Amino acid sequence: MDFYKFIKCFAGGKVPLGLKRKNLRVLVTGGAGFVGSHLVDRLIERGDSVIVVDNFFTGQKQNLLHHLNNPKFELVRHDVVEPILLEVDHIYHLACPASPVHYKNHKTNVMGTLNMLGLAKRVGARFLITSTSEVYGDPLQHPQVETYWGNVNPIGVRSCYDEGKRTAETLAMDYHRGLNVEVRIARIFNTYGPRMCIDDGRVVSNFVAQALRKQPLTVYGDGKQTRSFQYVSDLVEGLMRLMEGNHVGPFNLGNPGEFTMLELAKVVQETIDPNAKIEFKPNTEDDPHKRKPDISKAKQLLGWEPTVSLRQGLPRMVDDFRRRIFGDDKLDSG
Ligand code: NAD
Ligand code: UDP
Ligand code: UDP
Repeated sequence: MDFYKFIKCFAGGKVPLGLKRKNLRVLVTGGAGFVGSHLVDRLIERGDSVIVVDNFFTGQKQNLLHHLNNPKFELVRHDVVEPILLEVDHIYHLACPASPVHYKNHKTNVMGTLNMLGLAKRVGARFLITSTSEVYGDPLQHPQVETYWGNVNPIGVRSCYDEGKRTAETLAMDYHRGLNVEVRIARIFNTYGPRMCIDDGRVVSNFVAQALRKQPLTVYGDGKQTRSFQYVSDLVEGLMRLMEGNHVGPFNLGNPGEFTMLELAKVVQETIDPNAKIEFKPNTEDDPHKRKPDISKAKQLLGWEPTVSLRQGLPRMVDDFRRRIFGDDKLDSG
């Protein structure tokens, strides 16, 4: 039984104010990465004890430096593909290489998720998996609702990512149904913000870094494909609500504001450099034509919706990128 439930029993079903959500032991796998480090900030801020397990494949110690002296924080260098013994109440399982075309993706999604579910089962922890909108593949339904099963190529170059995440969701549901592990499934749509990897090839980080470096913005294909971009603080709020709520999911977590890549390039030009040039490049294989979340379920059951628009969020990310690219320490990292 987790701490929260214990207190609830003790207090006749009511959680005394002030005790709610405090002193949980939380494991964040992939906590040195972009999303994970923002999640850790929020968990530490509200008083939880946090263990981060990360192999630094795409994450960085730098993202967590400000917690290293906190006795409630622990950083463990470990690959989740290998088993690990820890005692925790909640597991946010984020560990996954950012590159959508790396075989390690599949291995981490399958073996890493299995190990973390095994851990959750052993200690009775609640387990949240960060799945992705990519499970919908190149969707034939628009916007995407959680009940849509997707249109995924099982043998394409991106399959190690989307099929890996689909397997991770299946594993989570198997442990839930068969072994009574409490699970939560989030399907995350494109997210951006400070601490994003500068050179991992995602479109927002590419455009922002290119505009700052006075290089042309590389638009792939005709630039008419769409995505919906969510600011990282909105995502973290959604993940925490999902973890603490009573619903397994899956839940779409994303911002329904939909932009073509050419529109995104325009917002980046307006925010950073109106004279930034655009250069068209061939698109990658199996690139989804459009993507936009239907978030009715999260609105209704989690009371969640994004609050930061692209035009509000982008400048916050630009400050962080400018500081990291040009080394200007006077700017805030957000
Ligand atoms: P990220 O690359 O910044 O973070 C992933 C972290 O996992 C990194 O710190 C990396 O070092 C770590 N990691 C990778 N493989 C590992 C392994 N085998 N063992 C231990 N640690 C490992 O990526 P992110 O954007 O922060 O993504 C976090 C999670 O959210 C991922 O599961 C990702 O699939 C999911 N997601 C993100 C987005 C997005 O737009 N950012 C969209 C959909 C889903
Ligand atoms: N596991 C882990 N930490 C734990 C418990 C299990 O890493 O605290 C791993 C375990 O080594 C196994 C996986 O999780 O590879 C699945 O464990 P489970 O007990 O569900 O499966 P079993 O070992 O019974 O096949
Ligand atoms: N993209 C682009 N220029 C870039 C990087 C990506 O036009 O420099 C396009 C890419 O082809 C895709 C969209 O932007 O259509 C989103 O790509 P990203 O890799 O960020 O996210 P995902 O495809 O995983 O949604």
